[in-house]
Amino acid sequence: MPPLRELAYRARRVLFPVELPLWYSPAYRLPITGTASRGIEPRRADYVAWWLLDWGALRPDGVRTPQRVDWEALERVHTPALLESLSQPETLGRIFAADPSDIPVDELLHTVRLACGATVEAARQTLRTRDPHLNLLGGFHHAAPGAAGGFCPVNDVAVAVAAVRAEGFRGRVVVLDLDAHPPDGLARCFAGDPSVFVGSISGSDWGPLPGVDETLLPAGTGDEPYLAALEALLARMPAPELCFVIAGSDVLAGDRLGLLALTLGGVRRRDRRVAVALDGVPSVWLPGGGYTDDAWKALAGTGMVLSRGSLTRIPRRHDPMMARYSKIARRISPELLGETELSRLDIEEALGLAPADATPLLMGFYTAQGFEHVLHVYGILEPIRRLGYANLRVALDRSGLGDRMRLLGDADGKEHLLVEMVAARAIVVGREVLFVHWLSLRSPRAQFSARRPRLPGQEVPGLGMAREWGELLSRMAKRLGLAGVAFRPAHYHTAYSARYNMAFVDPARQGRFEALIRDTAHRPLLEVTDALDQGKVLLDGAPYAWEATEMAWWVKEPPGDPAQVAAERERARFSLAR
Ligand SMILES: [Zn+2]
Repeated sequence: MPPLRELAYRARRVLFPVELPLWYSPAYRLPITGTASRGIEPRRADYVAWWLLDWGALRPDGVRTPQRVDWEALERVHTPALLESLSQPETLGRIFAADPSDIPVDELLHTVRLACGATVEAARQTLRTRDPHLNLLGGFHHAAPGAAGGFCPVNDVAVAVAAVRAEGFRGRVVVLDLDAHPPDGLARCFAGDPSVFVGSISGSDWGPLPGVDETLLPAGTGDEPYLAALEALLARMPAPELCFVIAGSDVLAGDRLGLLALTLGGVRRRDRRVAVALDGVPSVWLPGGGYTDDAWKALAGTGMVLSRGSLTRIPRRHDPMMARYSKIARRISPELLGETELSRLDIEEALGLAPADATPLLMGFYTAQGFEHVLHVYGILEPIRRLGYANLRVALDRSGLGDRMRLLGDADGKEHLLVEMVAARAIVVGREVLFVHWLSLRSPRAQFSARRPRLPGQEVPGLGMAREWGELLSRMAKRLGLAGVAFRPAHYHTAYSARYNMAFVDPARQGRFEALIRDTAHRPLLEVTDALDQGKVLLDGAPYAWEATEMAWWVKEPPGDPAQVAAERERARFSLAR
């Protein structure tokens, strides 16, 4: 490997920074609620776009807006039968491993066509400018002319090649497929086409792929042997006149579906090595798969390499959702959210129009309209609308325990309850907090199925937005001048999904919780949560009853002693009874 070329590449990118041509739309988020439970982060493109903007890879107005690919372009590659089948929820459900009841066909096809349209347009533009383009959704390498599967409804790479060919491009095309899985769809799309070279490094053996330069590496390969195999592939690769790079993040260690076990640093070196090899060659970079919490960091790293040649680490604890919400919070003006100096309540009361309790406020601050505005600016309403719920609106009233907020929406000629929350101020360990007595995020149109089993306490499947809601509650606590957010998780799975930013207030309780996660990590979440409900979980050999005590998130440093958490965690031993 010539490190000098890498240094020169890096120096040039630093001295003469180019604005990264980045293709992204908020509609890249798949409008399927159950993806997160299957290890797919539906917000990967969002996280990467937010990070690259904050990091300075491009200006906010530099983001390229995808347009939907037209059916004519898809027909150049795919059979009419396949394209027709994509309007069936059953077909899309099979491709995306979701229940057909959970598939809003039009919105999902909108997402797919946007991604494919961006790959096509990126190919056109890079042929003109020779700058590498990055599209944050695409690399659907499993789709063949007449068959689709594995999260790949159409083959955007093959469609883009057919489009530029139709417009007169005759040069050699190279596809470097660095996703952890074999390019079976690409092999079939380009079968018998000597003008396209497909080179691939995979960690799974799916049998022979005619026409593909395939390197199969064993499970657990790791950085150095992988980079050596990459070097050999780049040496064999014919000189491209247009290149597509599927920079899969499922090569990362710990991936649920990929086995190659690279580190984040290794993935970044992979990308820089390829970027140097393709210096000056028109190229389109695509994400492919990625099924770990860190998948977004691998893809964000691809963007950092393409814009600055950077190998700088993304901080381990950086939380893109928190960073995003903090930024938005600084922009929201309080007058829009609730009552200002001249409160409407005061005026109405003074005029004798209405008693104060007739116009309920959430937490004594947010009006219904104000809270609806909050949900809008934090980007919570749009993904819900895309699930098929129209006329979204907030209703506020009082319940026995506190203020009740309901988010309602219309679908199938009915009004549906989508979110219900009951919250009040309360004192937890001597501090005043936003206490959530009840929170239900519901997707009533979706049905439970083998792919999407019912969790304890659920009436209907969830909305897939617990992460956003948790962050929203933190922002509310800050806005209201409270010390934090607290709730009592009635079930293990609710505590489990809150564990990223909340902890049990009692350190010993937190220690037992961490021990439980450690000792049951090899079992599916649903099985553990069911076993707890049925009294089949043992603590030090004796039946263990779930302790629904308070979990909290604190604005300032959390109370409690980490040593006490660790001591109880090391002491407690959980097991599952047969
Ligand atoms: Zn893959």
